[in-house]
Amino acid sequence: ASNGAPDSRVTPMMAQYIEIKSANPDSLLFYRMGDFYELFFEDAEIASQSLGIVLTKRGKHQGQDIPMCGVPVDRADDYLQRLIGLGHRVAVCEQTEDPAEAKKRGSKSVVRRDVVRLVTPGTITEERLLDPGRANYFLAIARRRVSDTQWCYGLAAVDISTGHFVLSETDGPGLSAEIARFDPREILVPDVIHDDPDLAAFWRETRASITPLSREGLDPASAERRLKDHFGVATLDAFGSFSRAEITAAGSALFYIEKTQIGSRPVLHPPTKGDAGAALAIDSATRANLELTRTLSGDRAGSLLATIDCTVTPGGARLLAERLAGPLTQPGLIQDRQDSVALLVENGDLRDRLRRILKRSPDLARALSRLSLGRGGPRDLACVRDGLFAARDLGLELAITPDLPRELRAAAEQLQSLRTDVADRLSAALAEDLPLLKRDGGFVREGFDQALDELRELQHDSRRFIAALQARYASETGCRTLRVKHNHMIGYFVEVPQNVGEDLLKEPWKETFVHRQTMAGAMRFSTMELGELEAKIASAADRALKIELALFESMVEELLGLSSDIAAAAEALSVVDVTAALADLAVRLDWTRPVIDTSLAFRIKAGRHPIVEAALKREGTPFIANDSDLSGRDAGHILLITGPNMGGKSTYLRQNALIVVLAQMGSFVPAKEAHIGVVDRLFSRVGAADDLARGRSTFMVEMVETAAILNQATSRSLVILDEIGRGTATFDGLSIAWAAIEHLHEGNCCRALFATHFHELTALADRLPRISNATLKVTEWNGEVVFLHEVVPGAADRSYGLQVARLAGLPTAVVERAKAILSELERSDRESPKRALVDDLPLFAAPMRAAPPVEVKADGLREALDALDPDQMTPREALDALYRLKAQR
Ligand code: ADP
Repeated sequence: ASNGAPDSRVTPMMAQYIEIKSANPDSLLFYRMGDFYELFFEDAEIASQSLGIVLTKRGKHQGQDIPMCGVPVDRADDYLQRLIGLGHRVAVCEQTEDPAEAKKRGSKSVVRRDVVRLVTPGTITEERLLDPGRANYFLAIARRRVSDTQWCYGLAAVDISTGHFVLSETDGPGLSAEIARFDPREILVPDVIHDDPDLAAFWRETRASITPLSREGLDPASAERRLKDHFGVATLDAFGSFSRAEITAAGSALFYIEKTQIGSRPVLHPPTKGDAGAALAIDSATRANLELTRTLSGDRAGSLLATIDCTVTPGGARLLAERLAGPLTQPGLIQDRQDSVALLVENGDLRDRLRRILKRSPDLARALSRLSLGRGGPRDLACVRDGLFAARDLGLELAITPDLPRELRAAAEQLQSLRTDVADRLSAALAEDLPLLKRDGGFVREGFDQALDELRELQHDSRRFIAALQARYASETGCRTLRVKHNHMIGYFVEVPQNVGEDLLKEPWKETFVHRQTMAGAMRFSTMELGELEAKIASAADRALKIELALFESMVEELLGLSSDIAAAAEALSVVDVTAALADLAVRLDWTRPVIDTSLAFRIKAGRHPIVEAALKREGTPFIANDSDLSGRDAGHILLITGPNMGGKSTYLRQNALIVVLAQMGSFVPAKEAHIGVVDRLFSRVGAADDLARGRSTFMVEMVETAAILNQATSRSLVILDEIGRGTATFDGLSIAWAAIEHLHEGNCCRALFATHFHELTALADRLPRISNATLKVTEWNGEVVFLHEVVPGAADRSYGLQVARLAGLPTAVVERAKAILSELERSDRESPKRALVDDLPLFAAPMRAAPPVEVKADGLREALDALDPDQMTPREALDALYRLKAQR
């Protein structure tokens, strides 16, 4: 309180607060005062609202009350979690000296305080704040101009909770897919990139929290220096070759770690190259649409990841998520993974033994990271111990297995080269029941340290001594209810009933018993003997804790000396876990090993949709497996699917995309047989009518996304379009869908599945060589429509809707009338412009890659004819030209 001082004067504490707060304007400031973190001013208002805690006030500032609220230090994690979850950042400000020191400087001086850590969504390490099954990346981005119109982007993804550090580079159009692959919690974006109008929508829509970064720390030279300093190397060559943009991004990532961790250094693996070109590119719309790692409503349950996750360790769960998010494109690497999964599919005993060991393995990587940041506790040591034992046992198990495929062999070598004697020492040192915090003591096992045992003995003896003292005092005073007790205010004391107490105030007792407190019906006294004992016990406890803390630090130091080996072992554990989990899945669900090569094959026998199948299984309904074939030699095939709603079109489309993702991440797939030539990019879009969640004009969204596909899909890509063109008037939609298919066929030449309710599009199959029609079979049984969910060649029956209407009980007269109207519509259709569109529209009207445009002048055929040079034309171009000339007539 200001104590009558003029309002304009600021107390020294408030002055300190304001100084620290103004250095951290973007964070809520947790200002340590005793056992609380206090928040003031606007911070207090935000926190009290977000956390539902009471807003009070403390003193005045410039004549106004200062709003304040506080959270207890020992429960700060819970509050942090909620604030971070709401997208806030928190600066934790601690007292950095003993309050006694401050008093020595003068009665008015304030305890020194400093921000010791910035807590942001992308830099947390606390077990309670993290999702065990998900990496917690923050992403730094840098860019470099490669031409007048083009940029290349360097990305550095860091998960300080595990030490993962991945660099990659991408061009502008690939940026969003690359960011989506890492699925970061936080993105550091330099102002220039953030303000780029082309990227504005992207920043708005990402789920990650955006941290703007000024130019500070971003020039390539200082970035490189930072990297070398951090890893203590003279050159970065040892880590691989990185582009300038990647190094710049890595430098900003390190800069941000220094800025947020303030003096603490996480264990970081040396950066690895997460080559964007080596991963199947999947943009964020496709990821969302296919519900790879979360459903459209944002839940993990019901996603592909949740459906296939049989891992038994947190590290394995994270690696599985990462592999699912970034499937491979090199057949050799995919086959390596498949070989290892196949071994564990065949060798069920080995699989079970490995999984039993893995189940005992805790989150090694994250415990190690907390220890390295000085935030670890005794339980983290136990975690590392158990992890190391699991690693050792796993290594032994694999060592006796002959003919290990490459992936498992590499993991086995990693595990076998690990020194685990440190784990034996941890076992010897750590007690059975461990406290959460090291400062609570009591975590070192009896018999481990002689000095510690002696001090504990002393404490123990003292307690016995106190019991003896109590008995003596009781007999001397003749008071059988006399007790020796302890509290934090006055330490050890003697407590007697009031009437006895009155006696003790007098001779001869008053020499021995010094009065301290009078309670209702009782009195409390201290004695010299108790005082001495107290001091002895306190100093023994103090010294014991010091010894424990020193032991803790030496164990941590020993572990950190091995940190890169331990981190590598943690990685190897995760690899074995993922491999065994995928094998387990394949066996339980009867999945098959797909053939992967560099062809343009896409042949699946009896494919299934893993998520829908799992959901149906719970209801006891069988899933109908379906074949697909989109194989081509130089260009992919397009399958056009028409059919009734609820027939299973979307399910069929998605199952084919999911099989690709699973196959390229190295998993087996839900099918009888599968042959897939690697896909370089996967696109999946749903027509606007299904996409109601967004605020923008849905049709615009649909067109922007379709444009992206038509611009980016290569002959290696797989494109899945579900009801594109539905979001607008029929003719618009139909023409757009029509032109899009033509472009996919002629320009992109990719493999594609296209579901539509525009029946007119089925005519395309007659005109274009690499398109065929398919439909979903429907039948009628006991007066009901039955969806057979079976994909068969051909187009849907147009009058199907009328059948349904009849079955639904519409009066016969209405159905008959509808039939008449339908046939009338179909007849006039044949003569109307719409029909012309279908039958007579020149197929290659849009300028395609190879086709030179045919100029038809309005004033005559002759000039148009003159412009043609038949010797220079392909037969198709000639046919095209002929159509145009005919249209002109
Ligand atoms: P459409 O896209 O044609 O409207 P969906 O793909 O959404 O149809 O499928 C509708 C429902 O039919 C699904 O929710 C699922 O329960 C069921 N279904 C779809 N495909 C199959 C299948 N192959 N086997 C069994 N049930 C299926």
